[in-house]
Amino acid sequence: MPAAPPPAVRLPGLVDSHAHLDRDRYGEDLEEVIARARAAGLERIVCIGVWREDGTFGDALELARREPGTFAATIGFHPHEARLVGERDWVEAERLARDPAVAAIGECGLDFHYDHSPRDAQAEVFRRSIRLARAVAKPLVVHTREADADTVRILREEGLPARGGVIHCFTSDAPAARAYLDLGMLISVAGIVTFKTAEPIREAVRLVPSDRLLVETDCPYLAPIPHRGKRNEPAYVAHTATKVAEIWGTSAEEAARVTGGNARRFFGLDR
Ligand SMILES: [Zn+2]
Ligand SMILES: [Zn+2]
Repeated sequence: MPAAPPPAVRLPGLVDSHAHLDRDRYGEDLEEVIARARAAGLERIVCIGVWREDGTFGDALELARREPGTFAATIGFHPHEARLVGERDWVEAERLARDPAVAAIGECGLDFHYDHSPRDAQAEVFRRSIRLARAVAKPLVVHTREADADTVRILREEGLPARGGVIHCFTSDAPAARAYLDLGMLISVAGIVTFKTAEPIREAVRLVPSDRLLVETDCPYLAPIPHRGKRNEPAYVAHTATKVAEIWGTSAEEAARVTGGNARRFFGLDR
């Protein structure tokens, strides 16, 4: 039998710093998705556990408990659902947030593009999430879309938790990146950075110090070129790291090693 073809890209040390690997998207073939991730060189995957209307936080924590050497989880409330979050959900979030398999709080923040929840509800949940991250001494994963000014203001007013924060799936421009860097945050880029129209994001990446940049898939959405439009998966973060390498003028291997090391430090994955 002929051997399976090697993956297009293999970059040891890679970390996907933001993936949504819930069963409803990957129930059929999660094991194959994980195998492809390993073949692409991925060592760790940070699984985002956001609250859902059924009162659960999805499957992230279960994955992290099952395979702590591969997965780490987060727990948080996405701004889309802010209007639905009740006191009981906070009690549960506060309990889960202390679990050793939970590496960070989030994703939380503001989304003024979709406005699925009223902005004051988004802001309230965001503020409380920042306080939770501080209380449990874990870093913060921030989602922000068309809301940079308010995101910066709230982070400034509340103060960044001691373990810091990351702007995930950065989609803004260089001045916004500057403001987040000044707050002491990290920036994480997703597959969008490979898109032709993403020059403002690439310009922002150029000003992020190399020790403060992460790469992610934000799968199942936003597959990078050459998989654009298909279901995204952790293995494809290799394409994003390759684009970062191009921007940095270095090798893909080096970009994988550096961004992977940043993710391990930030999320405390080697503890
Ligand atoms: Zn997000
Ligand atoms: Zn996400």
